[in-house]
Amino acid sequence: MGAISEFVTKCKQVVNSLFLKELCKGLSVTGWYFFQPKITVQYPEEKTPQSRRFRGLHALRRYPNGEERCIACKLCEAICPAMAITIESDQRDDGSRRTTRYDIDLTKCIFCGFCEEACPVDAIVETRVFEYHGEARGDLYYTKPMLLANGDRYETQIAADRAGDAQYR
Ligand code: SF4
Ligand code: SF4
Repeated sequence: MGAISEFVTKCKQVVNSLFLKELCKGLSVTGWYFFQPKITVQYPEEKTPQSRRFRGLHALRRYPNGEERCIACKLCEAICPAMAITIESDQRDDGSRRTTRYDIDLTKCIFCGFCEEACPVDAIVETRVFEYHGEARGDLYYTKPMLLANGDRYETQIAADRAGDAQYR
């Protein structure tokens, strides 16, 4: 019985090889996709849709009156799993506490978004911006003025994205 089934299997293999069954199967898949709509995106001329929760370049936000939002609570620094954030703070003359140093080393950052989740005043955020680069390691070390400048530049988009998210809360 065993010898017969082995013989049948061998015969099937020979027939399959003779008629190039596997090659035809492969070509049929190729042929199917050849006539399907193409999904390749011609970046950078074309771009894929982006979520408003996209986690890109960081920014520090201000209130509409120009006051920085960050109250130097250091929750973002504490939660950052990559230890990419460094904060130093001091008390102002008016008694409020603000950062004197707020750095993010983007070469360490893993863009997990924990910092923006932890922030009680929505100060540190990740923008949709992903088209940035550095030519030296230090270029990706973002200081407080750089992060505030990002916030000023992209505030319209950041506020609109947050307003959109609020609909689902
Ligand atoms: S996105 Fe994550 S890794 Fe990057 S700074 Fe924020 S908490 Fe740290
Ligand atoms: S960015 Fe937010 S979480 Fe981080 S220190 Fe400032 S207020 Fe606290």
